[in-house]
Amino acid sequence: MTTATASVLDGNTIAAQIRAELAEEVRQLTAGGSPPGLAVVLVGEHPSSQIYVHNKIKACRELGIHSEEIAAPASITTEELLAIITRLNEREDIDGILVQLPLPEQVDVKKVLLSLAPEKDVDGFHPVNLGNLAANRPALVPCTPAGVMEILHRTHTPIAGKHAVVVGRSQVVGRPMALMLLNHDATVTICHSKTIDVSQFTRQADILVVAVGHAGLVTDSWVKPGATVIDVGINRITDPVQFRSLFAGDARREQSFKEKGFTVAGDVHPRVAEVAAAITPVPGGVGPLTIAMLMANTIKACRMRRGADRRGGR
Ligand code: NAD
Repeated sequence: MTTATASVLDGNTIAAQIRAELAEEVRQLTAGGSPPGLAVVLVGEHPSSQIYVHNKIKACRELGIHSEEIAAPASITTEELLAIITRLNEREDIDGILVQLPLPEQVDVKKVLLSLAPEKDVDGFHPVNLGNLAANRPALVPCTPAGVMEILHRTHTPIAGKHAVVVGRSQVVGRPMALMLLNHDATVTICHSKTIDVSQFTRQADILVVAVGHAGLVTDSWVKPGATVIDVGINRITDPVQFRSLFAGDARREQSFKEKGFTVAGDVHPRVAEVAAAITPVPGGVGPLTIAMLMANTIKACRMRRGADRRGGR
């Protein structure tokens, strides 16, 4: 059993705070004319995509954001999907457009994502938005790393002058994460699958963000005592041997693993809690922030389109 010393950075509490603030913003925007609007395009019947879209629409409803789900058949062509996006780009009442990924093989994903109006690209994947982030200009930025920044800010974690190490360089998490930390004056190192001896870098980190997709990759010997560790990874564990290597002695996990036959683990080994000063749990750390930041981006897009972005660089 792990003797945890690190304080737990509770994503559920932070996400609830953000949602309460956003609900108030939606009330103001709605009183000033109409609610912000989000369109979510779902292609095919991918079960996890259906759940994600359902959760996004539900979050909109709870905040009073107008939402629409546009369902398209799995057989859709790139041109047909582009036509749907063009209509959404032109609609005055839609501030944010999200195309749920993955798309079927026959669809040209890059072409589709490029066709989104950058000012409505609430996932922040359009090169114009990535370019603005890189240039430290106002932009719609990817939700998961934006959620990590909220965790750091709201727990008063110092960033300027600190050494931040990001493990993973995906377009969705690692790359924009590194840019956001750089924009907040951290000294940033990015590690990835071709980095030789990742642990020599992670051991130098004051802030360590891990987004790889490899359960328990980062162990206690990889972490500097007193570091803040943010675990973005979400890994479904079904193998009992792997389960034990991560969670042996954790009675609550063991019970739930026995009942459900799986557990969800991060990329950071639970033993890291003995070394770090603060750590995000999995589940309940970064995960809850992602949808909250999608809502924040929709409101931000609405304000920017109405020419009243008072929130600045969120
Ligand atoms: P990805 O597969 O697109 O990227 C993984 C990155 O890890 C790559 O850049 C790769 O170079 C790097 N990598 C792979 N093996 C490595 C190793 N041994 N050492 C160092 N770097 C290595 O994944 P992603 O979309 O960035 O997601 C990463 C993880 O975060 C996944 O577990 C995913 O499920 C999770 N995720 C969580 C949320 C959330 O809301 N919490 C959102 C997005 C992704």
